[in-house]
Amino acid sequence: MGIFSTLNFEHLEDLFLQQLKSLYEGEQRMTTALRKMSEKASSDELGRALTAHLSETKGQIMRLEKAFQLLGKKPERTTCEAIRGLIEDCEEVLDAKGSQDVIDAALIAAVQRVEHFEIAGYGTARNFAQRLGHEEVAMLLEESLKEEKEADANLTAIAISSVNVAAQAA
Ligand code: FE
Ligand code: ZN
Ligand code: FE
Repeated sequence: MGIFSTLNFEHLEDLFLQQLKSLYEGEQRMTTALRKMSEKASSDELGRALTAHLSETKGQIMRLEKAFQLLGKKPERTTCEAIRGLIEDCEEVLDAKGSQDVIDAALIAAVQRVEHFEIAGYGTARNFAQRLGHEEVAMLLEESLKEEKEADANLTAIAISSVNVAAQAA
């Protein structure tokens, strides 16, 4: 909360580390959410896409751990209100009643919000890493950024080609 902020940004490096911890928190929380959403999906194609992104997410966690290691820091999480809220929205869809096909469209809507959030986070962190001369860390963040963008584009393709069509017919 604003008034009791414990953030201390003396140097860009402090902000960079806080951003990495926030990404780490988000990825950890998303592993559980993605597993549940992949189980909830009725479209096989959507289920496979969510399962594939779950396994990418585990790789992204390992990349962040490698980044902390390269920076001589222990991997740490920080609270992130934004990802908590986005995941709450995912959880709400998991509990939704109604047409399976419309629920699939709702799953995509919720996950794509997360992907865009992660794209913003990885883009910012990659730019900080480059500015600070952490080349190897920047490359790790760039790889995850690319995966998030591909996951997002893949979900758009699945929505347009099948899930939204089925949802409309429901
Ligand atoms: Fe991710
Ligand atoms: Zn946050
Ligand atoms: Fe993602």
